[in-house]
Amino acid sequence: MNEAQRQKPYKLFINGNWQEASSGQTFATYNPATEAEIAQVARGDMADIEQAVVAARQALDGPWGRLKPKERSRLLYAVSQSLEQQVDELARLETLDNGKPLPQARKEVLGAARYFEYYAGAADKIHGEQIPLGPDVVNFTIREAMGVTAHIVPWNKPLNILARSLAPALAAGNTAVIKPAEQTPLTALKLAEQLAELDFPAGVVNIVTGYGEEAGVALAGHTDIDHLTFTGSAATGRAVMKAAAEHIKPVLLELGGKSPLIVFADADLDLVIREAIKGIVTNCGQMCSAGSRILVMDSVKDALLEKLVAAIKQLHIGPGIESPDVGPLVSAVQYGRVTGHIDIATSEGAHILYGGSRPAHLPQGYFIEPTLFDNVVPDMYIAQREVFGPVLSILTFHDEAEALRIANQVPYGLVAGIFTQDISRALRLATRIQAGQIFINEFYTGDEETPFGGYGQSGFGREKGLAALDHYTQIKNVAIRLH
Ligand code: NAD
Repeated sequence: MNEAQRQKPYKLFINGNWQEASSGQTFATYNPATEAEIAQVARGDMADIEQAVVAARQALDGPWGRLKPKERSRLLYAVSQSLEQQVDELARLETLDNGKPLPQARKEVLGAARYFEYYAGAADKIHGEQIPLGPDVVNFTIREAMGVTAHIVPWNKPLNILARSLAPALAAGNTAVIKPAEQTPLTALKLAEQLAELDFPAGVVNIVTGYGEEAGVALAGHTDIDHLTFTGSAATGRAVMKAAAEHIKPVLLELGGKSPLIVFADADLDLVIREAIKGIVTNCGQMCSAGSRILVMDSVKDALLEKLVAAIKQLHIGPGIESPDVGPLVSAVQYGRVTGHIDIATSEGAHILYGGSRPAHLPQGYFIEPTLFDNVVPDMYIAQREVFGPVLSILTFHDEAEALRIANQVPYGLVAGIFTQDISRALRLATRIQAGQIFINEFYTGDEETPFGGYGQSGFGREKGLAALDHYTQIKNVAIRLH
């Protein structure tokens, strides 16, 4: 941060300026590993959102609107390079604010840089098509920017998810108002500082930190936005969609998940263990696409569990800054939610095979052991609800049909993993599982290039890849009769 920013509280970034919240109020952000306050941050509300939306609207008609696509492309590429250059500082800040292990924060910052690089490459290739209507008519389409895009961001991958929607929105020529999560606002402000240094025209990107029920509600319900990207819980997604419906605004919803890893008897169990651990402990299980259910064929269940428990025992839990395998949960609230899920699962008759408590050597911070539940059946709460923590449920199946039925028997449909040597079976299941992304003999395969999004209550619309650009453009058709 520059000198002005070092004098806390952190300010809002609106129309290229750093300013206090109109109310003059601030809120605290905390280090989840120590529970200590890191900083005070401006508490934006409706008045600040109003200013930000006006700035974003005006910027559409300013220098930004007059840039050629290839000039936008170069600017986005410069953002990518700037993020890469500052990866160490950004990763440390993300780890302090969110708690995640430093190597994961690093990977996410580089992923954010990659979104800007990828969409920089796309910015000058977004074009319409000519439609043949016979010799007397010329007909073509134009892909126009939507206008002012709104982005409401969660706390689990703060900078990465922000970049995931901001980069394609800017590539297509839109402007943006961003509301970071109140738990993790710092890296968004750091990005704003970089944009200012890169001479992004004022008002193209505006960042209003604040609470969901104040700044978030004001942004979702604003009459002068043209598109809203929301990433967060299904409950908030529902509220946001209702608010946007009031003014008939299009929304892209990226919500939660209860994603399965389906393990057949012919699977390589060592591979399964590696992927399953990655699937549930990355970011302390606070991943929308976490693999939170293992569906294992009954004949290999015992062998799998023995290896799984042995592997979980090896995991090192500690402050993210020490690069452990597992860091803390993000907040006291999230700690309460996760332990609440563990209590409900136990009361329903699920059996804790490993974990379930705070690690004895970490009396402070929001630490919880990776937790493994056996004796889980498909209609239990723990098998249906997203925990958003390192809590893994084991369910069994006897044949492919039963595996498919259990996999689809949840309200969500974000991702699924299939582990088998039988490619026909894997592809058969891939076409029948109700989820937006299928991994075969891996978990989390897929990068910035691959479309990502949900079925069912995991939301709708696709981010990442070229598919995302569809949300940030609208098609206009032009018809000319030749006389
Ligand atoms: P959340 O829904 O509580 O908050 C998300 C954002 O919405 C925050 O910025 C918050 O301030 C804001 N918000 C809260 N109430 C609002 C309201 N009434 N109107 C407008 N904005 C409001 O979610 P969270 O707890 O921050 O994130 C966890 C959830 O996000 C999990 O369910 C997870 O699965 C989901 N998630 C999904 C994806 C995905 O890509 N599908 C990615 C990450 C997280």
